[in-house]
Formats: sequence, structure tokens, C-alpha cells
Amino acid sequence: MKVAVNGYGTIGKRVAEAIRLQGDMELVGVSKANPDYEAILINKLGIGLYVPEESLKKFEDKGVKVKGTVEEMMRKSDAVVDATAEGTAQKYKALYQSMNKPAVFQGGEDADIADASFSALCNYDEAIGKKYVRVVSCNTTGILRMVCSMKGFGISSVNVDIIRRAADPREVKKGPINSITLDPVKVPSHHADDVKSVIHDLNIFTRAVVVPTTLMHIHQMTLRIKGKAERKDIIGSILNTPRILLLSPASGVKSTAEIIEIARDIGRKRSDLPEVIAFEDSIFLDEESVMITYAVHQESIVVPENIDAIRATQGKVSKMDSINMTDRSLGIKMGYLI
Ligand code: NAD
Repeated sequence: MKVAVNGYGTIGKRVAEAIRLQGDMELVGVSKANPDYEAILINKLGIGLYVPEESLKKFEDKGVKVKGTVEEMMRKSDAVVDATAEGTAQKYKALYQSMNKPAVFQGGEDADIADASFSALCNYDEAIGKKYVRVVSCNTTGILRMVCSMKGFGISSVNVDIIRRAADPREVKKGPINSITLDPVKVPSHHADDVKSVIHDLNIFTRAVVVPTTLMHIHQMTLRIKGKAERKDIIGSILNTPRILLLSPASGVKSTAEIIEIARDIGRKRSDLPEVIAFEDSIFLDEESVMITYAVHQESIVVPENIDAIRATQGKVSKMDSINMTDRSLGIKMGYLI
């Protein structure tokens, strides 16, 4: 399958690399709107660089070589992952439609841009054969993975306090740099509705604050369950779920800084951790609730989801086959991080 990546930022560059690692996919090229250092790097990496027609002159003036326009890239492709800046994809959808190309959108777009919102573990089958699929945001992907790992216990409601990173490490113009900001003040935050775009009837409440860090998000989740569970059942369920890793009590890890250091130490490129990282010692059960705290690496968690979403649009590979193929190719694990 020939796949294009429209938009080469935090998400697009990682998805483009992941596509190159799939046996059943070929990366046609990537696009950027501005001739900055990343555009120069794309050429150095030997990846085809395409640009919006109106940006051609900017690239030419700066002497950055391009292979053609976004439209030309699309003509060579069977499908596209749109990872353009939030709010840009709606404009591009008309192009994808006119060329009859399936597209995978990102969580920064409204849910109605696509025929289905997507979380590989929770609703792969709903996206099978759909032309337009939207991978939900990093926070929503984390919540959904955790909820779906527990669905065997019968979930009656979910509450999540989301502690969000302020910006990605490369973003120099975002904040706050000295504040804890309620985002939003009015609850629930949009994450609850985003989760419901995948699990339509889930009783879920979310609220969020933003803190001055760039490393990861933290979620503090409470699930009310209908069935009976012991702590060991919850741990067992998490250990058997793809794309979730546990931090053992023995590790003594209690911060996102240490988690990222582990990612570096074990040789993860860019210190990416597409798995949800859950603290085993944070798991607490009472009569009817399970509480758990976990970390979400915002820059990489949606990467495997994008790969599975591309396969789902083609409708040829089953859910677990796709998840396994993706995870093997990207070195994504289950079990214990440490
Ligand atoms: P980004 O700003 O890092 O990258 C966006 C890219 O799109 C840039 O390379 C830019 O040049 C390109 N672009 C902008 N306008 C374009 C146009 N008209 N044509 C072609 N390319 C264009 O953004 P990002 O953080 O990668 O986010 C992309 C999407 O992924 C958003 O919907 C966002 O909400 C979602 N998302 C982001 C994160 C995250 O933590 N960064 C996590 C999950 C989902």
C-alpha cells in the first residue's frame, strides 16, 4: 500500500517512519508548509518532500528542493495520513474526496471529519472499510486503552483527572511556563466526548489541568466496576493488554522524568514510548472501584494507532493481526517496562 503523510510535525514524522517499517506499506512522501530545518532534514533523510502549491515559491526562495505539490503526492498514493496542524485537515478532505483516496485524520480535528473515530484496541472493527477514519487524541487514546483493558470487569462509570503537558519538547512558543492552568475551567473537558466518539455509551467524566512540562501527561483514573475483582486480576488484565506497560513497585519510579530516562536507557528512538505506562503501586481497589495512575507519551502514543487505522480502511487485515504486525515492527511491548 502506497501511503502519503500530509504534515510532517511531531506526529507526522513519527508516522512516516513507522510506515517505512511496515512490510505491507510504502511511504510515498511527506509534506510541509514551511521551508524550516525539518524540511532540510527531510531531504537529507532521502524522503520525498511535497508542499502545498501556494508554498512552492517559499521553498524555492530558500533553496529547499521539493519533489512536487501535495496534490502530486496524493496522485501517487493509495491512502493518506493527514497529520497537518490542528484545523487544517478539513480543507484537505475535499482534495482526498475528489481523488477518491482513503484518509486517516488526527485527534485535533472534529470527530465529524471522519466516518469513525478510532482506537485499535477498542473499535478496530468499526473502522473496517471506512474511507475516513480519525485517530483520537493522545489523552483520549490513553484513556481508551486503559478502559478497554478493563472492560471484562463490567465498567459502569469512568472518572479521569488529566494532568496535561504544556507543549511538545520542540515547541518554543507554547506555555504556560510558570502556572497550573485549568484547561478548561468548565467541566467536563472535551476528552469525555472524544472517548464517547469511540465507546458511544460509556458513562465518563473528565477534567484537565495543564502544567509546565513537555515530557508526558499523567492520568488519575477511577473506574466503577460491576463485577468482582481483586488487585491481581487488574494487574493480570493490564499485563495481557497490548500497548500497556507496568512499572513494578521494585523500580521505585514515581515521575515522568524517570520514565523518559528509562526510554533513553533502553534505546527508544527520541525516547518515544507509544505504550501507556501504568504505575503498579498506584492500583487501589475498594468495594466497587478501581483506581490507577498512568503516564501517556503524547508524541508517540498515536503512532501505532495510525498504522492500524490505515490497515482498517483497507479492510484486509483483522484487528489482532494488525496490532501484532504493528507492534512487532515498532518494537512495542506488553508486560513490565521495568
Ligand atoms: P505540528 O504542528 O507539530 O505539525 C503540523 C505539520 O503540518 C507541520 O509540519 C506543518 O508544516 C504542516 N502543515 C501545516 N499546514 C499545512 C498545509 N496546509 N499543508 C501541508 N502541511 C501543513 O502538529 P502535531 O503536534 O504533529 O499535530 C498534528 C495533529 O496531531 C493535530 O491534529 C494534533 O491535535 C494531533 N495530535 C498531536 C499530538 C501531540 O502531542 N503533538 C498528540 C496526538 C495528536
